Amino acid sequence: MKYIDEFRDGALAQTLAAKIARAVEPGRGYSFMEFCGGHTHAISRYGLADLLPPALRLIHGPGCPVCVLPIGRVDLAIDLALSRGVILCTYGDTLRVPASDGLSLMKARSRGADIRMVYSTLDALEIARDQPQREVVFFAIGFETTTPPTALAIQQAEREQLANFSVLCCHVLTPAAMRTILDTTEASEGGAVALDGFIGPAHVSAVIGTRPYEFVAAEYAKPVVIAGFEPLDVMQAILMLVQQVNAGRAEVENEFARAVSREGNLKAQQRMAEVFELRSEFEWRGLGVVPYSALKLRESYAAFDAERRFKLAYRAVPDNPACECAAILRGAKRPQDCRIFGTACTPEFPVGSCMVSSEGACAAHYSYGRHRDLH
Ligand code: SF4
Repeated sequence: MKYIDEFRDGALAQTLAAKIARAVEPGRGYSFMEFCGGHTHAISRYGLADLLPPALRLIHGPGCPVCVLPIGRVDLAIDLALSRGVILCTYGDTLRVPASDGLSLMKARSRGADIRMVYSTLDALEIARDQPQREVVFFAIGFETTTPPTALAIQQAEREQLANFSVLCCHVLTPAAMRTILDTTEASEGGAVALDGFIGPAHVSAVIGTRPYEFVAAEYAKPVVIAGFEPLDVMQAILMLVQQVNAGRAEVENEFARAVSREGNLKAQQRMAEVFELRSEFEWRGLGVVPYSALKLRESYAAFDAERRFKLAYRAVPDNPACECAAILRGAKRPQDCRIFGTACTPEFPVGSCMVSSEGACAAHYSYGRHRDLH
């Protein structure tokens, strides 16, 4: 397939691997975080870590939308669907995220809640049009990639005066999470996150551009290379990061220039800015409460804000004590470090959020055989 096959060429991957091996300086270690779950998935699916020299370590980051969703947010959605009688619409992976009391949205559905998987915000609007007598809530999750469609849906609902449509907004922001990771020291857990640079997100960056990452280079002296999701994209980005580290440079470079510019998608940014504003704080799974790291609806769109409409009160809920998702999402541990990885916790029966989505570190490792590393 044009524009896909070229980026999955095995011989070229080997050539890039050889270049990386030659670029690695003797006696030096390199630790790069792939922020985005799409990269985590690609690295596991194509076995890219096996092509890299031992001195090079890839650390999984928190860029998986369902992984970072804390239990308390899923509980709010379950409460809406089970106790308030709404039709709750959301994207597929969200249905299986474990919540309180052994529940998930999927299990709530088996108890009679009207919860519907949708492929786009347009589906949720359609349901609201079809059922004007019912309240329809779209449970909106994800990073900057999925935020513009939510903004468009809210504006469309306003134009149509769809009084029965609202949004439970849990959209989060990539740069704020990167800053938190850079500010976090894991010394108390004996696992310092010594990062030498970031493989930057692909789709998120198509929306926000490369400019929002410039603080990482300017303030923290860490290089960032924005990369596409194909295996050669990732390999090329790793080579660029190694070259920056060797040269003592810290810059934002763009390997994914076929889709990403410095400014990003200005129209999408405009729509987001019209509908949303920053929350003063938001709890992330793994990162804890992070200031100015998520979005809420502006006052002018308050009528479509499910939190206000249903007077929802957020309650933080601790993770299952056996689950290491929090440390994995901070880059402090690997999936194999979890005692129940691949045993009590599998993609069929996830205990933690990192085992739910194919972009989750645990699911990616499990699905593509990385669990064999255990033995
Ligand atoms: S294997 Fe399961 S329980 Fe362990 S960290 Fe991963 S998601 Fe959490």
